[in-house]
Amino acid sequence: MSGQAQDITLPDGSRFLPDDVNFRLKSDFDSGFIERCEKHKALVLSSIVLCPLLIYLLFFVVVPNVAASAVTLLPDGVAKTTGEQSMLLIEKVALEPTELDIAQQTEINILWQNSLAQLRLSNEKYRLGFYRSDFFGANAFALPHGQIVVTDALVTKLAQHPEALRAVLLHEIGHVEHQHSMRIAAQSVASTVALAVIFGDLQGIAELTLGVGSAIMQQQFSQDMERQADDYALHNLETYGYKAADFATALKLISHERQSEQNDWSKYLSTHPQVETRIQRAMNYQNSK
Ligand SMILES: [Zn+2]
Repeated sequence: MSGQAQDITLPDGSRFLPDDVNFRLKSDFDSGFIERCEKHKALVLSSIVLCPLLIYLLFFVVVPNVAASAVTLLPDGVAKTTGEQSMLLIEKVALEPTELDIAQQTEINILWQNSLAQLRLSNEKYRLGFYRSDFFGANAFALPHGQIVVTDALVTKLAQHPEALRAVLLHEIGHVEHQHSMRIAAQSVASTVALAVIFGDLQGIAELTLGVGSAIMQQQFSQDMERQADDYALHNLETYGYKAADFATALKLISHERQSEQNDWSKYLSTHPQVETRIQRAMNYQNSK
């Protein structure tokens, strides 16, 4: 028998208590089903396991995925604000003014402007910045509003291969076009909010801006995201008269240094895993269109 023994409190305050503790008042509600569930050991046990699992799935799979999908619905202003704030944060903690000479910067800027023109992308939105960075080493990354950062170390490493640098820049543009930073930022925000709601720790929400910045800084793109950005680069290299193999050259040059300069390469490669596979894909790439 489910539930507790029933009693009725009358309007004058007196109570009716049946002698039979198993007595239940009849109602339209069929308590039989609930009663059977409560007695079913396997069901009770599985609910103990399933409830936390469902909560986990809801907050760590459903919420982040919905958040990531919702990114496409956000107005451009959100990406702009998020990108600009994150850039300020990243600049403060990890970037120094560039030490590249003007001639070097000009050469790359021309290549950059040409690429934007070919891709018909706005040079108001897409901006290229050079920075020296011990934190990032030889690296390039993109912020959601179209700011692309290239480090001095990467420019130096690819100095003899401008076509390889172009391939890296296209890869980074691919991340922006597919809104990858915003996706991981939205996921981290959604999880933070979900946790804050569960544990009532609303202070966590105050750290949202920080969370967005660090999510972008760690560039924890999934392998699918990297593949998408690679495809964007490979497709456009082939479309505009360059070679998909230029991207393989870039990956090889960056990973080639791995034995000699542990710090420089490791960061780029750790954020861009499975280099060998990607080199092979670039070498074998053929445009389907
Ligand atoms: Zn990437």
